[in-house]
Amino acid sequence: MLSDKQARRALIEAVARAVIDHADELTALDQAIGDGDHGVNMKRGAEAVLAELDKHADSVLPDALKAIGMALVMKVGGASGPLYGTFFMTLGKTLPAEPGPSDTVAAFEAALQAVMARGKSHPGQKTMLDVLAPALETLKADPRPSQALCATVAEAAEATIPMKAERGRASFLGERSIGHMDPGARSSALMIDTVCKTLEGSVK
Ligand code: ADP
Ligand code: MG
Repeated sequence: MLSDKQARRALIEAVARAVIDHADELTALDQAIGDGDHGVNMKRGAEAVLAELDKHADSVLPDALKAIGMALVMKVGGASGPLYGTFFMTLGKTLPAEPGPSDTVAAFEAALQAVMARGKSHPGQKTMLDVLAPALETLKADPRPSQALCATVAEAAEATIPMKAERGRASFLGERSIGHMDPGARSSALMIDTVCKTLEGSVK
């Protein structure tokens, strides 16, 4: 269904708008355990994506994802820009033009591995990976956007609250990073939740 231009446009727009609408929340999370720029960073990236919405929608899905990844690298900045950029660019490089369910899982797995390599990080360190990795496990069980996937990412973001950060700025706080949700985990959950809710029921 993402071979359809209108569907691609609607999905990209929904994710970008969700990020913009939640910028204050992401900033507040990053104020607690980082430098308070995650919301602004992500909003800048989302606005850059919206500025080229027609171009992205006109491209086949892999090309759109690659272009979105490049926009995020250039516009988001901070630690999360290159990491999200890597994630989207790898999705774009790995997905065929008309992906089936198993292609989606394989591309998500490749993208997760690429973020881990880029961030020299792994799940369990209170980062976006603590949402992306459980999302992959749920996708392996059912590759369609589902209620289960929405629930997984929401719970996984919550589960970063009691964790101690071992990567990124939050790691400088040591034990004081405990008790706050990781901003990148929240932004990952938000984007995946939006994809689920936008596509649910429309993917066979
Ligand atoms: P910065 O930390 O440079 O200010 P952001 O505030 O935009 O960048 O993003 C912070 C988020 O990036 C963290 O909440 C975390 O989820 C993620 N992050 C930071 N470093 C890493 C890493 N090495 N691996 C995976 N994710 C990371
Ligand atoms: Mg920050």
